[in-house]
Amino acid sequence: MSLRAGIVVTGTEVLTGRVVDRNGPWLSDRLTELGVEHAYTLIVGDRPQDVHDALRFFAERGCDLVVTSGGLGPTEDDLTAQVVADFQQRPVALDVPLEERIWKILEGVRSRWPDIDEEAIRAANRKQALVPAGATVLEPVGTAPGLLVPPPDGTDGPLVVVLPGPPRELKPMWGAAVEEPVLKAVLERATSYELRMLRLFGIPESEIAETLRVARDGGVDIDALEITTCLRGGEVEVVTRYEPTQASIYGAFEDVVRARHADTLFSDDGTLVDDQVADALLGAGETIATAESCTGGLVAARLTNRPGASRYVRGAIVAYDNAVKTAVAGVDPALIDEHGAVSEQVARALAAGAIARLDADVGVGITGIAGPDGGTAEKPVGLVWFAVLHRDGREMVRSLVIPGGRDDVRDRSTTVALHLVRRLLLGTGGLPER
Ligand code: ATP
Ligand code: MG
Repeated sequence: MSLRAGIVVTGTEVLTGRVVDRNGPWLSDRLTELGVEHAYTLIVGDRPQDVHDALRFFAERGCDLVVTSGGLGPTEDDLTAQVVADFQQRPVALDVPLEERIWKILEGVRSRWPDIDEEAIRAANRKQALVPAGATVLEPVGTAPGLLVPPPDGTDGPLVVVLPGPPRELKPMWGAAVEEPVLKAVLERATSYELRMLRLFGIPESEIAETLRVARDGGVDIDALEITTCLRGGEVEVVTRYEPTQASIYGAFEDVVRARHADTLFSDDGTLVDDQVADALLGAGETIATAESCTGGLVAARLTNRPGASRYVRGAIVAYDNAVKTAVAGVDPALIDEHGAVSEQVARALAAGAIARLDADVGVGITGIAGPDGGTAEKPVGLVWFAVLHRDGREMVRSLVIPGGRDDVRDRSTTVALHLVRRLLLGTGGLPER
């Protein structure tokens, strides 16, 4: 029997999209890892009735577990704990030692705001220390404690795990929640699943559909696997979930993918191209620099995303204006005159400029027409030239016409550039020899 769970993300700011939901997807991954079937995420505003309705929705569908995010703060609109208490028919009572622990945490805050009304903070503090009867308290990471609230006595409704909204608080508190016996007891009923991820670059999603057909025709019982494919910024992700007893079927499926896509399957262990580029640079003890026009520094931003990037990223030039391409990146103005700013020659000169001016081993030059204006018949919107040069003479130079709007062109270009760097460093577009 599989264990089903729902997630309730609360907050009007999330409902409207002003804040992008980072908790629902994160919790979904955690639940899936634990073998729990994540059935739905409901996003609701800060209205008690809506939160209550969401809980009822899950209970009516037989979910064993509900995780809520948000609405645990000290303010008026933070009401999740009370709603969950009502839903589970558990009266709340003040937990005095918890109130004192929260008060201690607030001391730091109070010293920064000496004029603030102490009695108002006391009242807000007390609200956060109201605990439903029979619930387990999760110690606050910020100021709000979390809760594990069992269903009404004698019923088999869902256990509700109540977590605060700020992701930096929610994540560690989920880690604490899974250590609590009451949640462990529920999770024991989960089936354990294997979860595998394959990433491919430079093929259309339809190719994967074809591969699934080939596998099936070849006798691989792929219906025993739960395969989802998703196209993301030019990469295809193939995520497969299966029960451990089906491992040999998964193995057979993966073999078909490896055979058909040897040159485009770049990751079979969850790593991103970003990780692989970073590891390759670190492994070789080499450095990289970029000179970017249409991507405006997006490649440099991705390269510097990982902690420790200063060990391999030298820097970047955002060479947007032609005068900057010349003055800062050292591109010969005659090249721009002769071939145009979006050309192989200028992409090469940008990459060479990045190496020379920023003293790097690998240089990335990108120049293209992100649109919506500026295209011509010869050089349409979406045309991007990429040059990845190595000091030792190796190179990867390509052009592509990338479909979509300005954001798509800039995003996809960034991913393409990273793949070209990867290919140059590893000598293959597929998996490295192991
Ligand atoms: P607080 O004590 O900070 O009020 P809370 O548990 O009441 O905590 P919310 O009021 O719902 O949480 O959210 C506080 C802030 O946390 C939001 O303004 C938002 O910046 C962030 N946050 C909340 N929910 C999410 C979410 N699902 N994804 C990303 N950020 C979120
Ligand atoms: Mg709040």
